Amino acid sequence: MHGLMQSWPLTVDKILDRAKTWSASREVVTRSLEGPIVRSTYADIHTRAKKFSAALLAMGIKPGDRVATLAWNTGRHLEVWYGVMGIGAVCHTVNPRLFADQICYIINHAQDRVVIADATFAPFLMQHKDKLPSVERFVILADEDRAGDHPGMIAYETLIAQHAPDAQWGAFDENTAAGLCYTSGTTGDPKGVLYSHRSNVLHTYMTLQADGFGLTQSDTVLPVVPMYHANAWGIAFSAPAVGAKLVMPGAKMDGASIHELLETEGVTFSAAVPTVWQGLLQHLRATKSPLTSLKRVVIGGAACPPALIRAFHDEFGVEVMHAWGMTEMSPTGVFCSMPLELKDASFEDQLPIRAKQGRPLYGVDITLEDDEGQPLPHDGVTFGHLLVRGPSVVEGYYRQAGKVVDERGFFDTGDIATIDHNGMVQITDRAKDVIKSGGEWISSVELENHGVGHAAAEIVAVIGVAHPTWDERPLMIVKLRPGESATREDFLAHMQDKVAKWWLPNDVVFVDDIPLGATGKIDKKALRDQFKDYRFPDCR
Ligand code: AMP
Repeated sequence: MHGLMQSWPLTVDKILDRAKTWSASREVVTRSLEGPIVRSTYADIHTRAKKFSAALLAMGIKPGDRVATLAWNTGRHLEVWYGVMGIGAVCHTVNPRLFADQICYIINHAQDRVVIADATFAPFLMQHKDKLPSVERFVILADEDRAGDHPGMIAYETLIAQHAPDAQWGAFDENTAAGLCYTSGTTGDPKGVLYSHRSNVLHTYMTLQADGFGLTQSDTVLPVVPMYHANAWGIAFSAPAVGAKLVMPGAKMDGASIHELLETEGVTFSAAVPTVWQGLLQHLRATKSPLTSLKRVVIGGAACPPALIRAFHDEFGVEVMHAWGMTEMSPTGVFCSMPLELKDASFEDQLPIRAKQGRPLYGVDITLEDDEGQPLPHDGVTFGHLLVRGPSVVEGYYRQAGKVVDERGFFDTGDIATIDHNGMVQITDRAKDVIKSGGEWISSVELENHGVGHAAAEIVAVIGVAHPTWDERPLMIVKLRPGESATREDFLAHMQDKVAKWWLPNDVVFVDDIPLGATGKIDKKALRDQFKDYRFPDCR
């Protein structure tokens, strides 16, 4: 027997409709690429998004067509996002930090019909347009004056000025595709994750749980994490859903620029990968600046070093909340809310738990398996392959035959983790980064976390390097903070009492820079290439 409740399609246009109706004057503030701060409201964003929908319909864009964006987090990007999804077309957020060949590959693979880009990327697009045969129009997110510098591109402002805000949104099935995001693809070609309206709406509900991001209408939210990196971790949906004020950082994500916006706009909540927070921390320390409004930050995308959690707590009274997920999960999977027994514990007692990635949000099912697919205990000690399932988890990749889940619906995340009796997950490595020493596993992430706790360290990476006796052994690669000096012995002494003796790196090397990938994480593949001829001192 079926229930007798309404089947009200879970489509994302209703999110912005709600914001316009009940939070009309709540602000969306952008640091524009032109320079000045631009202030608008959810009502403005809604009107302009509707106009953009009308422009797309006039161009002949139909449901299911792909429309790409190459853009920073701005109010205009938000308008485009809802304008595309509202009419049942697919918003393909392209990561502009990918290599030129990868960008061309994914635009061609997605067969995008229109590309909408910030002025920053206009020269790139005009240079490569002949390699993008599916693209019929290029729109520049600017007014006519600025577009004039880029012949071949239509000005967004001119386009929307020609249309009334009367396009119809929604009225399609909730399983309709809404967004497309390619994984950064450190191995092989990037793979397309095709979100549906339903998966995005359910992910919004999931992250809004009080034991999750817990956003409310009184928050002012600054998503540093880009909209092209897995939906800005859902914030482009969850902030308007509750009517929180949004502050969009545009192209400037350095410590000084972020700090300025945090303070001038009274930001209470923010989200970014660890490298962004390291940058902010350095700026705050160097300029002896306070954080007067910020209360909570979500750090995810890569492991958050405990030293960073401590610094924000001790020096600025800001709570760092660790989270883990991936593009294939829309992206949030686990979120570090304190288990009940530690809720009232001291910060010192909580810190080892805060450094773990967190507990599954309601709506995400997780489990742990060994190499043979046998279940492993949730004892907080045993490492295994982390598998996930749920309504916002991928089932198959775009234009790739077959499903990528097992017969129970579980997707192998490619991460190695432990899970404890509270569901608390600790990611110990990517399966391909874990260091296999004498048949045992060493967590590169744990070594990095301890290494970056050294006062002179700015970024620390650990990779496995071939060793004749042990198969692989850890090599620690350190970028020092400006003006600091330290030796290999200093780092080894610092690590001495923090990990088992056989986990200690066989060597520590110092570099001027550590390569970061397209989503701001340490690029271990590039590091492995860089150190492919390296030999440990005892093997030379
Ligand atoms: P992406 O799809 O680019 O967001 O990358 C997802 C991957 O980033 C995950 O599978 C993890 O390997 C890694 N990752 C994300 N968040 C964390 C975290 N908090 N700690 C450790 N690794 C993380």
